[in-house]
Amino acid sequence: MGRQTVIRGDDGGGDDDDVERPFSAPLPPPDSINLKDENLDEQLRPQRLADVVGQRKVVERLQILIDAARLRKDPLGHLLLDGPPGLGKTTFATVLPKELGVEVQITSGPVLTAPKDLLPYLTNGSRGSILFIDEIHRMPATVEEFIYPVMEDFRVDITLGEGLSARTINMPLEPFTVIGATTRSGMLSAPLRDRFVNRLHLDFYSVEDLTEIVTRNARKLRTEIEPAAAFELARRARATPRIANNLLHWVRDFATVKAKGHITVDVARDALRMQEVDEAGLDEQDRKYMTTLLRIFAGGPAGLQSISHSLNLPPDTLEDEVEPFLLRLGFIQRTPRGRVLTAEGLQHLGITPPDSRGAGQGQLF
Ligand code: ADP
Repeated sequence: MGRQTVIRGDDGGGDDDDVERPFSAPLPPPDSINLKDENLDEQLRPQRLADVVGQRKVVERLQILIDAARLRKDPLGHLLLDGPPGLGKTTFATVLPKELGVEVQITSGPVLTAPKDLLPYLTNGSRGSILFIDEIHRMPATVEEFIYPVMEDFRVDITLGEGLSARTINMPLEPFTVIGATTRSGMLSAPLRDRFVNRLHLDFYSVEDLTEIVTRNARKLRTEIEPAAAFELARRARATPRIANNLLHWVRDFATVKAKGHITVDVARDALRMQEVDEAGLDEQDRKYMTTLLRIFAGGPAGLQSISHSLNLPPDTLEDEVEPFLLRLGFIQRTPRGRVLTAEGLQHLGITPPDSRGAGQGQLF
């Protein structure tokens, strides 16, 4: 096992090694369950590539990159991981340094407000170390421009002074690896995207893989769960490991209070009903998105900004957390004119389309 220096620029640190805590942190009340709880994530995060479930293609490719870097004793080529939230981008980015036995520093796009914020990471980095930049699409343009020569030539260009007396100093850096994670690879500028020689896309998970994740994690949390109950959670986890973990935490607390800690399929269903997670795994926010599209925009097409105003939710939240899974289920469509509710979406809301030919084309009523 190699050295691990984890410096979190954004949240003050996490305990990666303590994966077998006997008790989970107390959960907030059901209506405010946080689907991006850092503590829950850290507690159940796989530590090695062999512990990662699913994403076979990504794992196989990463194994090749790791083996090649080891054999050549070269740093890994810069790597971009993209995909919706909760699918394992941070997991892969934190597993890789462990596999390579190198240091890792962690920061994120929004906290890098100016080139000077990036500088300490660059000067601290040892040869072959990894700099993980989460939400890299939210890095300001000035930082982006500053990072180009860094990634390409391992060189920092610093301009001193202004106007005619300005001078640029070049500072060489140890070769290292940038791992960028993004939910929106489309928002990255072409020059930045091109600097990542390796790009891997994370896809939604199968119910089988999520059942495996729930079963393993219940074991880590020393919780008894029936196989049928693990399947039930997996089926309703919106194809996303983070959601599977959060549902497991909730159902575990529910079972502690109502069923002596034993999660049967009935206990799981009761707990999910209380959390208002429906048969397709949609929660209140997803259903509100669909009913807004139906009631306010007559099924669409409606622009993202308009839907965002109506729901009083930022467009980013809709694009990152709500729409990807609704699109995958075929409940909504993205058309050049805006978002549209489909016949399947309507059916899920328990409404029969007045004219099924109209559904999916917008203007249902
Ligand atoms: P992202 O960075 O894409 O938002 P994370 O890597 O933080 O997602 O994943 C959220 C949680 O889901 C992790 O803490 C981990 O417990 C679980 N998880 C993600 N991917 C996997 C996987 N392939 N196998 C097992 N658990 C996973």
